Amino acid sequence: MVLLGAPGVGKGTQAALLAAELGACPLSTGDVFRAAKSCDSCGQSAVMQAALGFMRRGELVPDTTVLEIVRERVACLRCPGGFLLDGFPRTVPQARALAWILETEKLRLDAVLSYELPIEEIVARAVGRRNCPKCRKVYHLTAFPPKVEGICDVCGTALVLREDDKPETVRVRMKAYEKCTAPLAKYYRRAHLLVPIAARGSPDEIFHATLEALRNRPPPVHHH
Ligand code: AMP
Repeated sequence: MVLLGAPGVGKGTQAALLAAELGACPLSTGDVFRAAKSCDSCGQSAVMQAALGFMRRGELVPDTTVLEIVRERVACLRCPGGFLLDGFPRTVPQARALAWILETEKLRLDAVLSYELPIEEIVARAVGRRNCPKCRKVYHLTAFPPKVEGICDVCGTALVLREDDKPETVRVRMKAYEKCTAPLAKYYRRAHLLVPIAARGSPDEIFHATLEALRNRPPPVHHH
């Protein structure tokens, strides 16, 4: 499956819940870039350094770089429990490339979960988000605060505001979303894969809405 939706809508949280429920392999291209960023000793390539510059500014990383990263992780798509793509594809060319990769691998997309929420609510969510840089657990100042302010419940590490969750960067990311990613909903609706989900409520409520939407979706249309 693919998880679609604006930045901050809760795709990452839902991907983790779905992965546990389905035994599927989650792949987040954003996590790949963040891991590269936090790895000082990795000797980043020029291409990766450029990618991190785009990320810092809230812009989309070029399709060629993103596709290289996904191709390197194609084994993840072959997971027997299925794959969950979070934050990829983000442009129509990326979606076409994914279709081609899946065809080559004799794999198929079952559904595209489209998490929908008005943009003002999304901005509020993104700027209140706090991440654990060590174990990657995600918190929220008001909706899901840690037990001790600023400290990860799981591993005790100090929480951070993602550089690209800063308000001015969030606005740039929303523009990129509206221009490049929002058209993907139409692309996947045409392919009869789109499963819209109202992304309002607690993570648990949204998770149940997801399972419900998957159960109730019309039978798949296969093209030959
Ligand atoms: P995310 O964690 O999915 O919000 O991604 C964080 C940032 O990584 C984005 O704002 C982009 O700069 C970059 N990024 C992640 N995935 C993609 C993608 N599929 N296409 C282009 N840029 C991406």
